[in-house]
Amino acid sequence: MHVVLVDNGRSNILESEEHRQILQCIRCGACMNTCPVYRRSGGHSYTYVIPGPIGVSLGMMHNPTFEYNNVSACSLCLSCDSVCPAKVAPGSQIYIWRQSLSQIGKADPLKREMSVGMDVLFEHPDLYQAALRMAPLANLVPESMTHFTRLNPWGIGHTKPEFAKKSFHQLWKEGKVDGMKHKKK
Ligand code: SF4
Repeated sequence: MHVVLVDNGRSNILESEEHRQILQCIRCGACMNTCPVYRRSGGHSYTYVIPGPIGVSLGMMHNPTFEYNNVSACSLCLSCDSVCPAKVAPGSQIYIWRQSLSQIGKADPLKREMSVGMDVLFEHPDLYQAALRMAPLANLVPESMTHFTRLNPWGIGHTKPEFAKKSFHQLWKEGKVDGMKHKKK
């Protein structure tokens, strides 16, 4: 009798403290069926053979420098975390992978710079509020200058969304949010 043990990278996954819970996966597919990205884009849009949230993690364990783009497809809604019967938390796993993109040299430089800018804004509420008040000015700039540029591949095939005249925060303070009874004194 011959016994053939196929490791298929499982030992590597077991070695990883952050990702070893992937091994709990029973391949039920619940994370795919609930994933808003998978439901709209289908399995062929992923580069790894197993699609959906769990496939993103398995792909990263297999070949991170090739499969890294799948990590950025996730919206991090974490719906998969709530439905997974095996407590794999595939969405949280993707969040960990996303934080490691810099280490493997695959973080988008533009997104990194934007994150630094957002960090500054969130650390300074006055600056953040001023930016919100000025945001509707962007509606006056032609789409060709802001929306359809090489910096925004998403713009192709999408109309430019308009900034609201008032932010939710302003409306909230004025007590004008639908269904909300509260009014700031
Ligand atoms: S829901 Fe959980 S157990 Fe099911 S395929 Fe996804 S990660 Fe695996």
